Amino acid sequence: MSYIELTQVSKQYRRRGQATEALHLIDLNIEKGKFVSIIGPSGCGKSSLLRIIGGLVKQDCGEVLINGRSPLEAQKQKQFGFVPQSPALFPWRTVLQNMQLPFEVNRQAAEQPPQREELVKLLEMVGLGEFTDAYAKELSGGMQQRVGIARAFGSGAPILLMDEPFSALDEITREKMSYLLLNIWESYQKTVVFVTHNIREAVLLSDEVIIMSPRPGRIKARIGIELPRP
Ligand code: ADP
Ligand code: ADP
Repeated sequence: MSYIELTQVSKQYRRRGQATEALHLIDLNIEKGKFVSIIGPSGCGKSSLLRIIGGLVKQDCGEVLINGRSPLEAQKQKQFGFVPQSPALFPWRTVLQNMQLPFEVNRQAAEQPPQREELVKLLEMVGLGEFTDAYAKELSGGMQQRVGIARAFGSGAPILLMDEPFSALDEITREKMSYLLLNIWESYQKTVVFVTHNIREAVLLSDEVIIMSPRPGRIKARIGIELPRP
């Protein structure tokens, strides 16, 4: 059994009597610790796939298992860290306080937040060591997105779901951010599912690239021939 396993998953959205097919009988398995990119044109179903894995959207039919459990159970057990297109930071809290949010939200889960040093180390890895005690609102968009990524890696969640996290950034910043993400992922070795329409990013970052078809809701190809690490 794979860590993340989708079997014959379909999804349609219905609006004013109109149905849009977003996913069509998807079979997919993702192994633990892999960095997997999902790439394809706009509207092909990438976000839907990611949201179904994370239990934010329910499939119409088919099965989704996260380490043998339903996505909703996995969500309750804090298996997922989400990194959306634009970061959800509280502007009037400091960067460090924003890093601690995943632990505040789920206070009943008797989990201790990491020590300050651990979170600062993560912030240093994304080049924001000096901004630990700055208010989030003082940071540029790119810097806030870096906080979002650092926060996900510090959250304790073993699976990170990233939906075009760099889409709002200019190309040079994007490139820098990709290398930062690669660096941090290599240190933390979490399972990442990364949605993008940028082929460069997918190639740079991924163990495996899943290509979705312009005919929406279908997987066209998977690239991922595993070779020993040099
Ligand atoms: P992608 O992430 O590849 O752009 P999405 O999964 O967002 O693709 O969308 C797949 C299809 O489903 C698109 O045709 C989109 O318009 C449609 N869709 C997505 N979300 C909704 C929604 N909440 N309501 C209606 N249609 C939706
Ligand atoms: P990013 O590349 O993260 O989007 P910008 O291009 O807006 O950031 O800014 C370039 C650099 O300027 C940042 O990497 C950072 O070092 C510095 N900078 C941006 N905003 C601030 C700020 N509010 N206070 C201090 N330095 C800043």
